[in-house]
Amino acid sequence: MTAAAERTQDGTINDAAVDDVLAVAREQVLDRGVGLTREQTLRVLRLDHDRLDDLLALAHEVRMKWCGPEVEVEGIVSVKTGGCPEDCHFCSQSGRFPTPVRSAWLDIPGLVEAARQTAETGATEFCIVAAVRGPDARLLAQVREGVKAIRASGNDIQIACSLGMLTQEQVDELVDMGVHRYNHNLETARSHFPNVVTTHSWEERWDTLRMVREAGMEVCSGGIVGMGETDEQRAEFAEQLAELDPHEVPMNFLIPQPGTPYEKYEQVEGKDALRVIAAFRLALPRTMLRFAGGRELTLGDLGAEKGMLGGVNAIIVGNYLTNLGRPAQQDIDMLADLKMPIKALSDTL
Ligand code: SF4
Repeated sequence: MTAAAERTQDGTINDAAVDDVLAVAREQVLDRGVGLTREQTLRVLRLDHDRLDDLLALAHEVRMKWCGPEVEVEGIVSVKTGGCPEDCHFCSQSGRFPTPVRSAWLDIPGLVEAARQTAETGATEFCIVAAVRGPDARLLAQVREGVKAIRASGNDIQIACSLGMLTQEQVDELVDMGVHRYNHNLETARSHFPNVVTTHSWEERWDTLRMVREAGMEVCSGGIVGMGETDEQRAEFAEQLAELDPHEVPMNFLIPQPGTPYEKYEQVEGKDALRVIAAFRLALPRTMLRFAGGRELTLGDLGAEKGMLGGVNAIIVGNYLTNLGRPAQQDIDMLADLKMPIKALSDTL
């Protein structure tokens, strides 16, 4: 950091430094497609609020140049809800906390109907999710039957899964079923993970992602912002995701869930959320960055449009796993207003 880039007393960075880090990002990320380093990401995360619009504009230019205008739309469905033995402190589906979520299974007709509704919105991705440490034989059999039934119904939407940690045999089984993408979030920086989860390690999650990639499935891995991590840890997480180089990074913002250890956490402020999205876009110029859970609450009046113009190029439509999202049509209309085409199925095959 140059002398002009010293931080002011309130922890922000003065204008000369702002210009400097954005100018560096313009040349490095926009022109050459090289993502920000951890240190550079940290400087972006500490930019003054006054410069947020400049940052978002740059993140949008980067997204348009390296990813294009298309937006990938995805729907998700929970095939097994609640009762999870793990203790992820943000999660209302953990059976270890007194949350109102009860254990439930979705049957095959329900799965087929959810896939149909998702395809109807124009979405190209349908992700089958289960609240488990990892899948057992019953769950894998249910997923296999579900994928078969969705195909038999004439729906050719792409199918992704999120079923927790996998063994090599399970990875191979999912490939055999035709599952093309696997979601498994690293959730947060490696250094912060033990504060968030104690029943398994960040490295175990990383191992699953490595096997998924080696088996030829697309890797989807992101996390949750607002779990008590520092700016340094946000920058660390961006660097670790860049090292993983996933096809897709879903960005969630904590929704403090009743009964969980994080129930009293403050929500991330809208402007901070936008800044994090833009910083991650600059750290991951070519990665699909998806708005996932929590955006309605976090962005509020700022609106999802701001994020779509600040680096995001994929969304989850409809309801999330345990929280209601806004109606899918509202998001589809928003994309039309922004003149951002929905990525077509033929582009993703
Ligand atoms: S493993 Fe998944 S479902 Fe289980 S507690 Fe953690 S985040 Fe929730």
